[in-house]
Amino acid sequence: MYSKCQKCGRKLTDPESIERGYGPECWGSILPHYSIEQEEPEESIPGQMTIEDFLEGLKNGGEKDMS
Ligand SMILES: [Zn+2]
Repeated sequence: MYSKCQKCGRKLTDPESIERGYGPECWGSILPHYSIEQEEPEESIPGQMTIEDFLEGLKNGGEKDMS
């Protein structure tokens, strides 16, 4: 529980913001970072591409389709 925004220090007024510690605007700017970290655990990286493959791709043709 927080009484102030942990990012900008503004006073929090709604219960949801108080609980997460950020005002809606700051939460909106923080949330993308969180979701990126949570949705891409290391295990989800495709096993067939190693760092060597990646470097090889850079050597051979510059850009590689990363999708
Ligand atoms: Zn804020």
